[in-house]
Amino acid sequence: MNRVRTRYAPSPTGFFHIGGARTALFNYLFAKHNHGDFIVRIEDTDIKRNVVGGIESQFSNLKWLGIKPDESCENPKEFGPYIQSQKMQRYRDLAYKLLSEGKAYRCFCTQEELIKNRIDAANKGVTPKYNRHCLFLSEKEIQKKISDKIPYTIRLKIIDNKTISWKDMFRGEIAVPTNCLTDPVILKSNGIAMYNFAVVVDDSDMKITHVIRGEEHISNTPYQIAIRDALGFNNKIEYGHISLIVGKDGKKLSKRDQSLHQFIQNYRDLGFHPHAVTNFLALLGWSPKTNVEILSMEQLVNDFDVDRVSKSPCFFDFDRMKWMSNQYISKMSDEDYLSFVKKFINVDLSKFKHQIDEILLLYKKQISYAKEINDLIHNTFFVYNPQEVCNKIITEQWQKVVQSFISSINQIDEINLESIKKIFKQVKDITKASGKDLFMPIRLLVTGVEHGPELLKIILILGKKEIKDRISKYINSLK
Ligand code: GLU
Repeated sequence: MNRVRTRYAPSPTGFFHIGGARTALFNYLFAKHNHGDFIVRIEDTDIKRNVVGGIESQFSNLKWLGIKPDESCENPKEFGPYIQSQKMQRYRDLAYKLLSEGKAYRCFCTQEELIKNRIDAANKGVTPKYNRHCLFLSEKEIQKKISDKIPYTIRLKIIDNKTISWKDMFRGEIAVPTNCLTDPVILKSNGIAMYNFAVVVDDSDMKITHVIRGEEHISNTPYQIAIRDALGFNNKIEYGHISLIVGKDGKKLSKRDQSLHQFIQNYRDLGFHPHAVTNFLALLGWSPKTNVEILSMEQLVNDFDVDRVSKSPCFFDFDRMKWMSNQYISKMSDEDYLSFVKKFINVDLSKFKHQIDEILLLYKKQISYAKEINDLIHNTFFVYNPQEVCNKIITEQWQKVVQSFISSINQIDEINLESIKKIFKQVKDITKASGKDLFMPIRLLVTGVEHGPELLKIILILGKKEIKDRISKYINSLK
């Protein structure tokens, strides 16, 4: 078998979307699983739709996900250029070659004529196809139009009464009768290659062996095979179309829906663990043989087999992404965790400048993404609502615990682990409260909320002065 070569071929018409990232990852995993090459090529022929920063967004986010191209415009090898806008002449030459061989023809039809053609087809209830008006022009008519400078596109002549089929890597046999296809434009009147044409030329020039892409491209594949055949490219290419990613409602994700975090940059900005995002994407349409869901890139490469790629739509579940990121963050070493989360902190921690690491470590097991920590810190260390505390400490037993805690803390000079443990023991002995009845009222008194990180640690970080302050606020609210 030839060396496996896959490619991810984004158009920089938007930013790096989870759908694109999943396609890139599947191509990468398949190539690496088979000891092959993964190529990134930029398909920027639709110049009007390209967005500023589109290419940059692809490369920097691929890197963040740990998907390393073996070849691209950033690390070119002999199969370049890897940006389509730099290959225009090559496409033109091949389009004219097909023209000279009689496999393609010039189409002089205007937009208005083409629209009328489509309406006529719709009225007749047949599939809208180009009516081949220009296929039947005489050589004389063609030359006259050329000398009159009438703009023309070049269309491939689809061979009638044939069937184009391929064995899809994930979907099995797919067959399309050529009578259902229209003669596609391969070169626009401004000399720019059409998407299907440039793709075929590049896949051949770059010696691609497997094309893995979204199912929205299934309808392009028969055209691409027809173009390949016309060009006489005979290197074998396998096509595989992966399923759509859908939202919880079962509908295709809309790129306009801002609430969904659909761009990889969103995850980066929020401080998700990059390996978690990669791991999550791998499971969007592929499942490992075992139930183990947390898989490193190395394991993914090792385990990725095409038989386990599903053809039914896969659900995008943000909660699962959060769960996965939490799994990765909570297992980081303290050192790595601290340097990772510090980049995302925007609360002013100068008041606790000697305890920053301790504060951040309180949340290591809890957070799904680093930015989440800001609100958590704010709520524990910078907000205290005594009235709410009064409203929550209502039973006599809880009030007794709180009173006992207050009088014990007033008797000590310094708060440290030993003294605070002693206080808890004293309160327990005096009030006979234990478990939740011991800890909850004290937690409420000290932090104002029912949930949060380890209570002893919070007390140590807050320190005696802050705790006394909070206690007096609470006492004042009781009046
Ligand atoms: N450039 C195409 C896109 O962004 C991908 C083409 C392909 O994978 O063949 O959708």
